[in-house]
Formats: sequence, C-alpha cells, structure tokens
Amino acid sequence: MKAAVWLMAGEKPSVEEIDLTAPGPGEVEVELRAAGVCHSDLHLALGHLGRRRFPTVLGHEGAGVVRTVGSGVQSVAPGDQVAFCFLPACGECRQCRRDQANLCEPGSVAAFGGTMLDGGFRMFRGDGSPLQQFLTVGAFAERTVVPEQSVVKMPPAIGFADAALLGCAVVTGFGAVRNKAKVRAGDRVAVIGTGGVGLQVIAAAAAAGAEVVVAIDPIAAKAELALAQGATAFVPPDGVEGTFDWVFEVVGRPETIAAAWRLTAPGGAVVVVGIAPVGADAQIAAIEFASEKSLLGSFYGSGNPAREIAALAEEILSGAIDLGRTVTHRTDIEGIDEAFERMQRGEGLRTLVEF
Ligand SMILES: [Zn+2]
Ligand SMILES: [Zn+2]
Repeated sequence: MKAAVWLMAGEKPSVEEIDLTAPGPGEVEVELRAAGVCHSDLHLALGHLGRRRFPTVLGHEGAGVVRTVGSGVQSVAPGDQVAFCFLPACGECRQCRRDQANLCEPGSVAAFGGTMLDGGFRMFRGDGSPLQQFLTVGAFAERTVVPEQSVVKMPPAIGFADAALLGCAVVTGFGAVRNKAKVRAGDRVAVIGTGGVGLQVIAAAAAAGAEVVVAIDPIAAKAELALAQGATAFVPPDGVEGTFDWVFEVVGRPETIAAAWRLTAPGGAVVVVGIAPVGADAQIAAIEFASEKSLLGSFYGSGNPAREIAALAEEILSGAIDLGRTVTHRTDIEGIDEAFERMQRGEGLRTLVEF
C-alpha cells in the first residue's frame, strides 16, 4: 500500500510502498477515503514539534471504512464508516475520569510518540524499519491501523469529506467555544487567524449568539469565507478597534498571543487554540490579571473528543453546521507537498486528499 513518508524535519515527503501489519487486540484497520491537510501536519513536517518524530506518516484528520478489526473490538465492525479521533483515550486515567479525555495520559504518550497504545508500530518501510503514525492516525496512507479509541462510527449519510474534517478542525473549534470559553448571547468575540480551525471557531461563536464576531487575518482573500461562516466583520491585524470578552488565538505565535491579550476586555479571556512551536515564549502585561483578564489554553476541544465528534456529526446532518465551504482544494496522495506549499503561502483553506 502507498503512504506519504517524511524521513526528516524540513524534507519533502516521498510516496512509498509500505507494509501495514494486521490490527492487534483492540485495534482497527481502516481504508482511507479522505484526509484533510492541517497546519499541525505542516508544523510537524517543519520540525516545530520536535525533531524526534521521524520517520513518520503524517495526516490526522481523516475518514474511511473499517476493513478488519482485532479481537475484542466492540464499537465498530468491518464496513462501518468512521472518522478519526487523534487522541486514543484510555477511559481510565485521572484525566479521563475528570472528563478531559482530550488530555488522556496514556493516550497522549501514544499520540505524541506516533505509536499504538501498546507502544508498538504497525507501519513499516520496505527495509523493515518502523514508521511513526502522526497522532496515532497516519492518515496520508491508503490504509492504517489504529486503536479502537481512535475511530468514531459515523452515520452513513455523512460524506467522507465532512467526516474527515470533524476529527480535527471542527471538534477543536467548536470545543474551544463551547467547552472552554462558554460564549454566551451578546458576548463580543474576536478570532485571530481564519484558517481551518479559526473558521470553525467563528461558526461556533456565531451559533452561540455572540453579538460581535470580528475575524482578524492579514490575508484579505479570506474575508469572504469568514463572513460566510458568521463573522460580523473582517479586519487586518492593525485595523482592530475596541476590546472583546473572548479573544481566540488560532495561529500559535508569541506575537498573536500577546496581541490577543491586548484585545481582551476586563473580565474577559484569551483562549489560545493555535499550537506554538516548541520553545516559543509569549509576553503579556501581567498587571492586567488585576482586571480579571484570563489566559486559557484549549486543546482538541477541551472535553471528550470522541463523544463530541459523534455529536457534531449529528449537527452536520441536521444542517446546524455547514462544512460545505471548508474544502478549497482536492488532490490525491501525490499532491500533499503542494498542499503544504499552499498552506505556507496562506492560500486556500483545507486541501482534501482523496483515496
Ligand atoms: Zn489538525
Ligand atoms: Zn485516559
């Protein structure tokens, strides 16, 4: 089977024939149908998330059809349509018991180590050397093997494109607004960065009844999409006026985190959703904690991602969430490097890899 393999940070991927082993106990083999190309994939490829995460098969938001299951698997069966949840929560650790499955301890070790929950690998290069699977998924491959906890059964009526986007951008954006910020009707909201996740933050804030949702992005071409998602205004970074109850930082840079802090009203909060490179420090005026400003982090929806992915799928089917405009480019597995280049130029939104 074919997969896009990154051997080292900063290198381009090569599409190779690789070997996939059969699913072990509690694991599932999935035939990919669609995978989104996300900024986190680019971050990892460029080495921003550390240099020990290679060789690897990237891709973590995807959807497909279950092909085979290992012993003990109960939630899915061959033929089921599934989306991926990129943090395989154990259900038993302290974080899982606190209903923070997004921070599951053994799940995080596996996800950030690119392994299964038992620490093992399922993808191998032709010479027998193991390949990490980014966030345990490895979606830029024709097939993958993942823990049962990494798949969420999808209603058959949902398309593979929408199902793929659910597992990263949608659950991350909606969860930040609903679970971490708790945006209420009448609130003033600003969103810095209108990429794949930022647009979902905008949609969720608008759906929550925010009075003002200002989208902030230097790339004017992104205005149309942001406004269509529910933004009440689109402005460049130097054109923002006033302060906000909630400022979502969806870029992951020290400068934009500092800017978010300056735009936050007394009693309000910054919610940092963007993933900053390892080693980056953000500077903020600490005296402003005295005006009850808060600085919050949000990762993967700030809740139980698998449960929320299933619930969000129902909202897509009911028409409450519309992902129709999110995919701007489609490609096959050979076009992933080009998709990365578009992302670096800030061009378009999601590229969907189709299998
Ligand atoms: Zn992602
Ligand atoms: Zn856990």
